[in-house]
Amino acid sequence: MEDRVAFIGLGNMGGPMAANLVKAGYQVTGFDLSPESCETAAGNGISVSASAVEAVKEAGVVVTMLPAGKHVLSVWEELIAAVAPGTLLIDCSTIDVESARQAHSLAKTASCLSLDAPVSGGTGGATAGTLTFMVGGANEAFTRGEAVLQKMGKRIVHCGDAGAGQAAKICNNMILGITMAGVCEAFVLGEKLGLSHQALFDVASTSSGQCWSINTYCPVPGPVPTSPANNGYKPGFAAALMLKDLKLSQDAAGATGATTEMGAHAADLYERFAALGHGGDDFSGLINFLREGK
Ligand code: NAD
Repeated sequence: MEDRVAFIGLGNMGGPMAANLVKAGYQVTGFDLSPESCETAAGNGISVSASAVEAVKEAGVVVTMLPAGKHVLSVWEELIAAVAPGTLLIDCSTIDVESARQAHSLAKTASCLSLDAPVSGGTGGATAGTLTFMVGGANEAFTRGEAVLQKMGKRIVHCGDAGAGQAAKICNNMILGITMAGVCEAFVLGEKLGLSHQALFDVASTSSGQCWSINTYCPVPGPVPTSPANNGYKPGFAAALMLKDLKLSQDAAGATGATTEMGAHAADLYERFAALGHGGDDFSGLINFLREGK
């Protein structure tokens, strides 16, 4: 059974992740509500089922890759009735910590093992099999799940108990949202001061201003040729997804009483950027919104 994986949610991320499991020799059954996603998955060697319940019947491991917490909980509620006790359930979606913990509880009631294992690396990393997995759950579940995750990613970090993977994900992406907004503001200020993009990059990328948002993903065209700024701000990582993650961090801050004022400000900037119709742009396109002084 361990070589049989069921994959529910075969979209932009789940589709290529499931395809990598097929390439690694797993028998993969899958299900998605979208007929287009099912068709692409079938072309990649996934055996598409008529429902989630059908897909998980013979599986030793079940992976879900769905939009949000409500989708994960409704799918897990459905499928725990269909899986054998001892099945390992892994949710790789980015969802709120509370829903992730509820999903772990559901698995426990069915005597299943479970992991929350959100990812970083985007669709490029999903296709290349180079994702980073941030994992929460018991040691026994992690030990069993690591082999499957390794076929879809290059870095697997066990962050702690139930919900710890989601907690790490939203904290990391809050840093990213804040640093990108800061780097965009610095380039806009530099422009006003007559400083060239290359000069600011050469200094900040090698000095105390260095961070992923400037060194790897520079929001102006030129200094980092592979960054989306050189490609019309085509994602990459869409502003709408950054906004989703920043909202998750703000919800978690509200629930726990943490003070995250910079995170709140970044969420507000991305909300206004997305409201102008730029949710589908790469999140580094925020620089155009800031340049216009919105
Ligand atoms: P997507 O919209 O492309 O895929 C989600 C899929 O889930 C869709 O194909 C949809 O039809 C399917 N689905 C929804 N409800 C379902 C149900 N009840 N049963 C079966 N299928 C169902 O989204 P995505 O980009 O693949 O993202 C998935 C998750 O990964 C999200 O939580 C997202 O935040 C996270 N994520 C995305 C990226 C990225 O760059 N796209 C990066 C990191 C994390």
